[in-house]
Amino acid sequence: MSSRPSSSGKSTLAEFRLIEDLRRRFGRTKHGVVRGIGDDTAIVHPSAGNDLLLTTDLVTEGVHFRLKTATLRDIGYKAAVANLSDIAAMGGSPEYILVAVAIPPRYTPRSIKQLYRGLMEACRPHGVQLIGGDTSSSAYGLFLSITVAGRVPRGRALTRAGARIGDLIYVTGTLGDSLAGLQLLDAVRGREKLSLRARSFLTSRHRRPTARIETGRILTRHGLATAAIDVSDGLSGDLSHICTQSEVGAELNAASLPLSSACRAFAAAQGASGLRLALQGGEDYELLFTVPASAQARVERLGRRADCLWTCIGVIRPQSFGLRVRDRDGILRRLPVTSYQHFQTGFKGAREVPCSP
Ligand code: ADP
Ligand code: MG
Repeated sequence: MSSRPSSSGKSTLAEFRLIEDLRRRFGRTKHGVVRGIGDDTAIVHPSAGNDLLLTTDLVTEGVHFRLKTATLRDIGYKAAVANLSDIAAMGGSPEYILVAVAIPPRYTPRSIKQLYRGLMEACRPHGVQLIGGDTSSSAYGLFLSITVAGRVPRGRALTRAGARIGDLIYVTGTLGDSLAGLQLLDAVRGREKLSLRARSFLTSRHRRPTARIETGRILTRHGLATAAIDVSDGLSGDLSHICTQSEVGAELNAASLPLSSACRAFAAAQGASGLRLALQGGEDYELLFTVPASAQARVERLGRRADCLWTCIGVIRPQSFGLRVRDRDGILRRLPVTSYQHFQTGFKGAREVPCSP
């Protein structure tokens, strides 16, 4: 990989070689793709009867990830999951990925391949095909911009805007694991009090989250959810997005919030609040969705057959109610809406000297 763009701004020979290598290793395409990597644009057949979903996300070294706590393979994996999770939150199926990278001089073609290996590890199980991207050098750290396209049956996409008073609030999986995992990677005190198993569960939940594609698809197939969002910034912040767009309030039940045993053990070892981790921890990439109370029995039945846990954690209230959480003593408290700020704890942001890949 060349560290400088040529004076014409065109790709250098090294860039061509890298792109060709990426195409051979990761860019083989099958169904739906007329032209993948190699032309001015990709060409795909639009799928009949569907709406097209498009999402993009930018991840930046020193802001969204640090090479101290994640490998390039993990970074690629997680960046793909962030986009796949957005498609899941709309109830869709991801189909195509485009990847733009700005690469600092110290990165080798091998390290970029590790990044793509991670990306494609996240994509392949869902049949998502790499069909293009862009490559640049970077003077200030690694930048990775991912675009994912997907499909959803026409008119069936789940939005943040449809929650109604009385709807039940559900969440998939467990909450707070990713933040606990990040704090472990940051070597907080008390980690030795946790079992190796709990530690590796939490750190892998941070490094290798799961996009809840299947749950999203079940919800659209059965027309069950009135609103949905993925938990990328933390439960309280993401629930507040549903409430704002649906013009409603919400009541959460603290005792119902799903915490893994590892996360509980972590909170106990830290003398921290598991509830706080669950409410404010970001990057869990679980799905938060609302369903009419009349559909509860069906939802519970479908949830038992899904590939992850579905838990009812609260109910939609009128907008004037605001956002509140009922604590274990039955007392209703105002829910502080704090979105998780990436790597705020102990992280010096741009002042940190980047590690070598
Ligand atoms: P252009 O000058 O039209 O942007 P490029 O030389 O940047 O062309 O790209 C050539 C082909 O390689 C295009 O199909 C593009 O989508 C693909 N491509 C370029 N960089 C990447 C990358 N980092 N990952 C995947 N595909 C890429
Ligand atoms: Mg280009």
